[in-house]
Amino acid sequence: MFRNFKMVSKMVFGRGCFAQLGDILKEQRRADRSVMVFLVDDVHKNKPLKDRLPLEKDDLLIWVNVDDEPKTKYVDQLVGQVRTHMEEKTGDLPAGVIGIGGGSSMDLSKAVALMLTNPGSAADYQGWDLIQNPAVYHAAVPTLSGTGAEVSRTTVLTGPEKKLGINSDHTVFDQIVLDPELIAGAPNPQRFYTGMDCYIHCVESLEGTYLNSFSQAYGEKSMALCQDVFLADPEDADDKLMMASYCGGMSIAYSQVGICHALSYGLAFVLGLHHGIGNSVVFDYLEDYYPQGVREFRQMMERHRIDLPRNLTANLSDAQMEKMVDVALVLEPLWENALGNDWKTIITREKIRELYRKM
Ligand code: NAD
Ligand code: ZN
Repeated sequence: MFRNFKMVSKMVFGRGCFAQLGDILKEQRRADRSVMVFLVDDVHKNKPLKDRLPLEKDDLLIWVNVDDEPKTKYVDQLVGQVRTHMEEKTGDLPAGVIGIGGGSSMDLSKAVALMLTNPGSAADYQGWDLIQNPAVYHAAVPTLSGTGAEVSRTTVLTGPEKKLGINSDHTVFDQIVLDPELIAGAPNPQRFYTGMDCYIHCVESLEGTYLNSFSQAYGEKSMALCQDVFLADPEDADDKLMMASYCGGMSIAYSQVGICHALSYGLAFVLGLHHGIGNSVVFDYLEDYYPQGVREFRQMMERHRIDLPRNLTANLSDAQMEKMVDVALVLEPLWENALGNDWKTIITREKIRELYRKM
């Protein structure tokens, strides 16, 4: 069976295109359903972007905090907040949810849009195609590039038991607004780590057994853009990084990520390590699996003077270590993509422990 996959319906790209957001949203505001909900990364609270939000009467602006990566509990709380606001204003659903920020804020907005029309907790829908009802209209404005969350059909959430996305066609954004000016202020090392998420998407997609011409086309383009951005620092680096993220996301949409992501999910679940930095920590130990990619990654780190944190797992209990291994091993498609059908004979719990102990 070939995957018949849903793509982002509309996208606008270009320096300054954020100014069009108000007009874009106007098309979605109907007389009987006009309220927009803005979920904006609170890093922008005291920045100029705050005064450029196209807020209209009764719109709700929520500053979201992403010090911790999105949790199902936080999503449930935000949905409650939106519902209360809507009961006070119109008694109806909002016309749309707009997420502004990095991967975390974009994922929160996807999840809130889904959970406004689906009963229960976000934790009930972690998995594949469990969502029954279409979400309300949702749009994204990235202010950090690399995750590909702007194009993917998942919203990655940490729940009580697992870190796993809500994967569904309804998760995909209806609109994305890609304005390279908005990522200009992202500081290092964050910009680097999130950029490396993109680079690693490319390596894992291009080196994987699921590779096909669709994924290869996007993966190769994205990788070339990453190489340019992180090894040559061109003048239009922000434009290129934004498109690298888009293409990297498209590449893995029709293939899969691999070992680095599987192991990094374990680190995230047990240690709370964020996705970009977690991937970078793990990737540095994967020379046996991705030799060329790891070598080039180290060149990029050196050029950008990145010092990775070390000894992260030194004080873990046995139970924590086993949990980390469990979280990594649940992600079977990632291992299968990386190592082929008989991956279970190649990768053992002990091999995974050994890799984690090095970190
Ligand atoms: P992030 O959204 O977690 O943000 C990292 C930090 O950068 C935060 O402190 C944030 O406030 C700050 N930030 C964002 N934009 C900024 C700007 N313009 N200037 C200054 N600071 C800014 O980081 P991320 O790496 O973009 O996203 C990671 C998240 O994305 C994780 O939760 C991960 O699970 C998720 N993810 C999702 C997908 C997907 O397909 N849905 C794919 C990969 C990762
Ligand atoms: Zn990733």
